[in-house]
Amino acid sequence: MDVIETTDLTKIYQNRYIALNAMNMRVEKGMVYGLVGPNGAGKSTTFRILLGLQRPTAGSVKVLGEEMTAERSDIRRRVGFLPTNPSFPRNLTPIEYLEFVGAVMGMPSERTKIRLATLLQAVDMTSAAGQRIEGLSTGMVTRLGIAAALMNDPELLILDEPTSGLDPAGRKETIELIRELSGRDRTIIIATHILGDVERVCSDVGIISQGRIIYSGPMAEMRRLARHGTIVVEIEGNTTAFEQQIPLLDDVGAVRWERLGSEFRMSFMGAEPLPVYIHRVLDLIDRTGVDLLHFNTGTDEIEEAFLRRLEEDRTRGFLRASAWAATQRLAGHDTLLTGEVTPAIPAATSTGATTGNTTAATAGAETVHAGVLGPPSV
Ligand code: ADP
Repeated sequence: MDVIETTDLTKIYQNRYIALNAMNMRVEKGMVYGLVGPNGAGKSTTFRILLGLQRPTAGSVKVLGEEMTAERSDIRRRVGFLPTNPSFPRNLTPIEYLEFVGAVMGMPSERTKIRLATLLQAVDMTSAAGQRIEGLSTGMVTRLGIAAALMNDPELLILDEPTSGLDPAGRKETIELIRELSGRDRTIIIATHILGDVERVCSDVGIISQGRIIYSGPMAEMRRLARHGTIVVEIEGNTTAFEQQIPLLDDVGAVRWERLGSEFRMSFMGAEPLPVYIHRVLDLIDRTGVDLLHFNTGTDEIEEAFLRRLEEDRTRGFLRASAWAATQRLAGHDTLLTGEVTPAIPAATSTGATTGNTTAATAGAETVHAGVLGPPSV
């Protein structure tokens, strides 16, 4: 079952800033889903809409199988939420605060006591349970926030930048805690702008850029794609012939390279394992008769793969929009874009403005799924 399902979710603030751009996101039951993207990508906006705290401008959102709106407090009660940098009443103790949360949720006092004691132990805060919140470290406040979000034993737990403001030890503890909370019956979605922070805990990842999901798939798939390597060679002789034939090294054309004098740095994103590309590069050196001065291989870090994905997305705006327009023509839709190439809508920025063309708001609705993290297939 999809615990979260958004369809063409669009949010335009004050009719000027596009925060979500026809975003399609699916999160299945039991997943620990990392929603990863730079600041301003639209993560918090997505969460506010998922919680029914803000209305979408267009599109729809289903949470736990039901249409989410501001009126659905019954669904909200089944969801736990940790906002970024949570702040709590400073003069209360963790026990008093969780009692308050239980009361707000309408929980019987007896059940509240049992639950808060269990949770404070689970988040390793038993020794600080009676101290005032103002004296707690940032890491402890985050853990208290997670305990508060779990008071109602939610089926869906939403954590907005849970590692923000924490030192490395605090980050590690929080990730460990999230790992312990995951289970078959609970779905967790974690927003972050640091992929490395959630990499070890997430089963799945969605990369959000300028209000759209540009990659969604299993974390293992993302890792596999990231592992595709780079080969660096330094050569002399007929370097032009060598350069001209680099595109032939990868059958599916997913090789990218840059040249720095006599050095060529080639990144392979095709489906073959790295040794196959090493073999082909050596073969090309042989065929073109250049002299090999230096040969080196390396693998991309997952963070690099993520950044590359974002960079590729930026350069793909026009391709995406023209592909979208083509699909509309094929589908026989009467659209303002017919016969034109229109750039994707710019995301919300302090200076960004809408085109005023509502039809164009769906341009860029494409999602890149696991297995196609590479150059555009359009
Ligand atoms: P993230 O959580 O990924 O940092 P946000 O959802 O907070 O992203 O913001 C997405 C975009 O929407 C940003 O460009 C931000 O400036 C803009 N935005 C967010 N809230 C508002 C608002 N209330 N009014 C206008 N623009 C907003």
